[in-house]
Amino acid sequence: MNFRPSKMRVLRWLPDAVVCTRASVRNKALYLSFDDGPDPRFTPALLDLLKAHGAHASFFLIGREAEKYPELVERMVAEGHLIGNHSFSHPRFNLLSMAEKLAEIDRTDLLLARFDGIRHHRFRPPRGVFSLALTLRFAAARRNLAYWSYDSLDYQRKPPAELIELLRKQPPCAGDILLMHDDSDCSTLMLATLIPEWKAQGFTFAALSA
Ligand SMILES: [Zn+2]
Repeated sequence: MNFRPSKMRVLRWLPDAVVCTRASVRNKALYLSFDDGPDPRFTPALLDLLKAHGAHASFFLIGREAEKYPELVERMVAEGHLIGNHSFSHPRFNLLSMAEKLAEIDRTDLLLARFDGIRHHRFRPPRGVFSLALTLRFAAARRNLAYWSYDSLDYQRKPPAELIELLRKQPPCAGDILLMHDDSDCSTLMLATLIPEWKAQGFTFAALSA
């Protein structure tokens, strides 16, 4: 089990202005991030948990799902979370032309702007797949790709109790951006145990800056 796969160790050498993998360590902050929502089956319970702990986080939304469940997106914004762009339909980016990739990103940016009034959102590519061409395109537009430094492996469909034990053995550090998902209840079940433990260790939970 490795929560910091080798690809991340390489990405960390790139400037954050190009690919963002870490955030400020101020206030001993951890940056929880959730991909693939909003999902009416799982996102509300996660938002309840975050709210109960005064925790803020970042949600990288699939545009198509955000369009279907606008009330969940409104709630995220109202409760102080960052909403980010995770493409419109979560396609395999390596199979798309540059024009198709940009259309997926722009359509989602336009949709999300309705909720937060922001024109360009942090973009996290589906499955973390991105090309040099897209990275350069973003850098030229002074945008960066929103990556992560710590992969919770919550999508591996292991029992949450097993993942909690593994995370305790290799805990995240201040400034880490944690990759999680809200299209299952795994992250909420894990965090119901881990947030209180991490809080007791002095960690705080912040949204990434817009
Ligand atoms: Zn995804």
